[in-house]
Amino acid sequence: MTFDEAVAFALPIATELRHDMHRNPELSGKEEVTAHRIQALLESHGIPVVSGLGGMHGLMCTIEGLPGGKCWGIRADMDALPIQEISDVSYASQNPGVMHACGHDGHSATLLGVALTLNLLRDQFVGRVRCLFQPAEETVSGAISVIEGGGLDGVDAIVMSHGWPDLPVGTIGLKYGSAMASSDTFEVTITGHGAHAAYPHLAKDPILAAAAMVVDLQHLVSRNVSPVDSAVISVTMFHAGTARNIIPDVATIAGTLRTLKHDTRTYLMSRIDSAVSAIGTAYGVEVCVHWKIGTPPVVNSNAVINHISTYVTSPAVGGAIRWLDEPTMGAEDFAHYLEHVPGAMLRLGTDCPYHLHTPKYDFGDDALAYGIRLLATIGMSPIPEFDKV
Ligand SMILES: [Zn+2]
Ligand SMILES: [Zn+2]
Repeated sequence: MTFDEAVAFALPIATELRHDMHRNPELSGKEEVTAHRIQALLESHGIPVVSGLGGMHGLMCTIEGLPGGKCWGIRADMDALPIQEISDVSYASQNPGVMHACGHDGHSATLLGVALTLNLLRDQFVGRVRCLFQPAEETVSGAISVIEGGGLDGVDAIVMSHGWPDLPVGTIGLKYGSAMASSDTFEVTITGHGAHAAYPHLAKDPILAAAAMVVDLQHLVSRNVSPVDSAVISVTMFHAGTARNIIPDVATIAGTLRTLKHDTRTYLMSRIDSAVSAIGTAYGVEVCVHWKIGTPPVVNSNAVINHISTYVTSPAVGGAIRWLDEPTMGAEDFAHYLEHVPGAMLRLGTDCPYHLHTPKYDFGDDALAYGIRLLATIGMSPIPEFDKV
């Protein structure tokens, strides 16, 4: 069986899965029917599946090539978003208020196509390919469940592709180093001492302290982060008070921190902690900072990007490379895998006029073949010695 014949076998099955997933989207952590459908398809082609990874709906299967060699990991996500789809395609969402607005239907279908393709070509490559179908990417809890469920055991390097509407179909966006931002959130509780608004000298005003914090946090990026690095601190919530003539006891502010480098993330978290506590001391109020740790930055391995770039324009893939200069400040929980093994996130052109996370976005059918061809080709390629990121 040739590579083209294997892809030709897999593509219609992958396309049908995408339509089926798009028609029946499930929210993060609730991908039960989706996971069953993918598992049944893999098993019906003789591919054993491990389900329920880490207590969630994640699946994995391993395509065993010829003995020896190393193991590629390929990750796709399965969850949808709470958005009402606006579409007249035949496979539009039948689940009101839920849709595949991030194209994860296309990602899972691509990976299914890769698994079916490689399963037919097991005697034509050395090593193994671990296919990871991840739940709950949008709520950034799924990657950890897959890792805890053993998804990365034995994996030497990992890749994923995300459909990208701004790129033409057939174009693969590659980015060295930082590709997407970390995302963490903080909440600061400022406890002072309330009083009648006409007697402010009797109060320890938490609103004034909180206001000073909001202003001070805006300086942190400009004076702590190199101008050629990047970070965002946005205070997005400020709550205090119950009446116009009462200085309250408590104020809270909350917001998000985004960074592109691990070091910058750690440093800015400590700077935020020390800045708000110093202001608290100056204003005579108590300060408590609560962090909700999210995802690290997605930092691609340059060696993996170089390796992949040699295959994009090969006859088996027939794609074009777009070298991306800039990362985005969005987040991706694929970053968790990259804390364990070297890897890279690719952008797969879907040429859609609508952005991700909007009611008219559709991964479409045309990008599937490129995704399957590229990821299957990478899966069959020997893994060189990649440096750890
Ligand atoms: Zn998304
Ligand atoms: Zn996504």
